[in-house]
Amino acid sequence: MTKWVYGFSSQETAGNKSMKDLLGGKGANLAEMCGLKLPVPPGFTVSTQACMDFYKAGKVISEEIKNEILAELKKVETITGKVFGSEKNPLLFSVRSGARVSMPGMMDTVLNLGMNDHSVKTIAKLTDNPRFAWDSYRRFIQMFANVVMGVNTSILEAQLEDLKEARNYKEDTELDAEDLEELVDVYKQVLLEEFGKTFPQDPMEQLWMSIGAVFGSWHNPRAKKYRQMNGFSDDWGTAVNVQTMVFGNTGDTSGTGVCFTRNPSDGEKVFFGEYLMNAQGEDVVAGIRTPAPINEASKNDSNKNFKTLEEVMPKAYTELVEIYQHLETHYKDMQDIEFTIEDSKLYILQTRGAKRTINAGLKVAVDLVSEGLISKEEAVLRIKPTDLDNLLHPRLDAAAKKEILATGLPASPGAASGQIVFDSEVAQTWFDAGKKVILVRQETSPEDIGGMNVAQGILTARGGMTSHAAVVARGMGKPCVAGCTSLNISEKNKTLRVGDKEFGEGDSITFDGSTGNVYAGVVPTIEAEISDNFAHFMSWADEFRRMGVRANADNPHDAKMAIEFGAEGIGLCRTEHMFFAPERILAVREMIFASTELERKVALDKLLPFQRSDFSGIFEAMDGKPVNIRLLDPPLHEFLPHKESEIEELADVLGLEKRVIEQRKESLYEFNPMLGHRGCRLGITYPEIYKMQVRAIIEAAIEVSKKGIQVYPEIMVPLIGTYKELEILKFEANEVIAEVFEQTKTKIKYKIGTMLELPRACITAGEIAPIAEFFSFGTNDLTQTTFGLSRDDAGKFLPFYEARGIYPNDPFVSIDEAGVGFLVNHAVQEGKKANPDIHCGICGEHGGDPASIDFCERAGLDYVSCSPFRVPIARLAAAQSTLRNKK
Ligand code: PEP
Ligand code: MG
Repeated sequence: MTKWVYGFSSQETAGNKSMKDLLGGKGANLAEMCGLKLPVPPGFTVSTQACMDFYKAGKVISEEIKNEILAELKKVETITGKVFGSEKNPLLFSVRSGARVSMPGMMDTVLNLGMNDHSVKTIAKLTDNPRFAWDSYRRFIQMFANVVMGVNTSILEAQLEDLKEARNYKEDTELDAEDLEELVDVYKQVLLEEFGKTFPQDPMEQLWMSIGAVFGSWHNPRAKKYRQMNGFSDDWGTAVNVQTMVFGNTGDTSGTGVCFTRNPSDGEKVFFGEYLMNAQGEDVVAGIRTPAPINEASKNDSNKNFKTLEEVMPKAYTELVEIYQHLETHYKDMQDIEFTIEDSKLYILQTRGAKRTINAGLKVAVDLVSEGLISKEEAVLRIKPTDLDNLLHPRLDAAAKKEILATGLPASPGAASGQIVFDSEVAQTWFDAGKKVILVRQETSPEDIGGMNVAQGILTARGGMTSHAAVVARGMGKPCVAGCTSLNISEKNKTLRVGDKEFGEGDSITFDGSTGNVYAGVVPTIEAEISDNFAHFMSWADEFRRMGVRANADNPHDAKMAIEFGAEGIGLCRTEHMFFAPERILAVREMIFASTELERKVALDKLLPFQRSDFSGIFEAMDGKPVNIRLLDPPLHEFLPHKESEIEELADVLGLEKRVIEQRKESLYEFNPMLGHRGCRLGITYPEIYKMQVRAIIEAAIEVSKKGIQVYPEIMVPLIGTYKELEILKFEANEVIAEVFEQTKTKIKYKIGTMLELPRACITAGEIAPIAEFFSFGTNDLTQTTFGLSRDDAGKFLPFYEARGIYPNDPFVSIDEAGVGFLVNHAVQEGKKANPDIHCGICGEHGGDPASIDFCERAGLDYVSCSPFRVPIARLAAAQSTLRNKK
């Protein structure tokens, strides 16, 4: 038989901290603390399984579950000596939601449940404190109306304000018992007249309604959105915690507060917290009154004149100190503890792993290891890899006021604010004049590279997580929000419209590339800072990880940065990105528009020295680490000239009429450029292009090796669909290499391998492997082609697919294990069978995504490669995967 309800008290407790999935985090910790015999008010937890049953039964609490609740309720009555619903000695409850992970967006707390028109009077008498009784009752009605009946309580709050005004009061505390009694009547009346709702007097009805509301809140839009953003399952459900009320507002020997076992901002080992005398929990959270410090260490400018808890209630404080030390040692982690003191008696209402900044997280992890509380392995598993992002990029000031204008895809992390510009030339001019700019575009193209480079960040209306803007911004470490479809951009009129708001060139805007949120005006940001603990912590991660971590870098600057972040090589150098600079893009266009082999050779000869010097720079920066260089793979449409001036310039260089250029441009037009004349197809049709690149790579490698620097070039052929493509291109590359060796009288080691980014290539990997020295999975294209989803256009409808649960998440962000992952697994297995020495890695954007990295570990890849700024994330995620998969 299923057990639905778990009682907790210091006399008997059915749960423990390992039962978070069933009891929720809060419930499991309450049970655990009862097991430790800490002073926790007794109660019971209705399980997450009961929540799922509630939905299965059509949003009703079954009789079986109700009976278990009633039985547990009886036990609480016996322990407390109070009776739920009694007029003489009423037992009151708090009701709180609690999923397995803390989840903002679900139902808030209801306090004082069980009060009604009769018990309020009894409580007034029993406590000899009518004000306290009526204040508790009016708070209860307000909370119940809001979180259970779904009434917007601003109307009730307005009544409270009206009454204060009528009485000429400034503070809530000036309202006396009679005022509050009157307010209760007004509240009930407003509920009835304005909302047609009767406030239920029967405590049992209040309880069933509250439990139903907690379960119901699991599917409210905010909670759903939160789950979707974090990849949490809809099937988890929430538990409900029903707990005996203790009161922090019975007078001057009562209070309530929150404390942290260490400082959550910097991780310093100091006991830290705030409390309010004569108050209930929500007063501390709501910020209506300024809380006082619990001890000297917690004093700051705004609270330094208040008395500390240590001074006011030394006995309760000493007990709290003992308890926090006990809890931290027991949980082996920094805790966030809620407490209430009722008539000088201390109660603990909650403990949980404290939320902390990433800097604090690293410090606490490192300190807990030196304190002998946890092992290095445990420390490495404690930090969420993506949190490291906040260390490396500026972030929005959490305390700043801000209003979300729109939300797009969080394409490249970090916060950016500046003046809007709609084209790259203006971006450059304004930047030169010392302005901070945000480049706002429908979508970006290689021509925007200059503008992107000088902008604080890039905001686009179109494009997905692997679009040009996203990939390039990530590589540069620039914040980017892509595919923000609610932005209406007119590049011609230089306007940006969102809903009824319009912005022009020069107006300020802010966005957060970590969340995808866009804000009007300038929202203050906080600069990134890296502590010593980071290096210390990361050295442990490196100790444990099996897979190598490389970076996707296209120039010496990014390569150097990648090394600083701990990259062990380059996993993808996209050579077409080296062509973005204005003086080069022209030569690339000459090459694309050439109509004879000779014309093409002339253009290629212009590019060769650029390429060679770029490669030399990268080889030098990588100083003996492998460098994987991909032969040209330009989706041609990204390189075509668009502007009149560009067409004219090209016509000039080629000595052709504009009309001819336009005609050629038309003839190059492809309906489906992503599936068109790109990748190795270009190398097959125009062998001289790849030959120039292979020559540049090998000549550069020899040049650098002559300076005494080790070089390990890896030449990578993109987008093959059959082994024959690789066979031909490898043969031609080897011919060039032999020529260079002959000319320079020098030989160096090199590898030739291929990307696997088409399903057919993965399926036939067994045929390809004998002629490849390595495989690198290009999961951007592999996702595009497996799903038949355009990486540039999918942004428009993917959110609907995610919202409806058709895709659990954006497959361009986290690898689709069932489809794309199946192909990768098959290719690795078949590849290794046919060529046991084959080295396998991933260089699609998934290489920087922790969930995908975990997949790579399980698939047996040798390394992952990602943009330089994500290297630390990948190092940590890879270490965690090794540790997790070892268990
Ligand atoms: C890929 O397709 O995964 C890849 C790395 O190549 P690109 O993104 O340059 O197409
Ligand atoms: Mg690709």
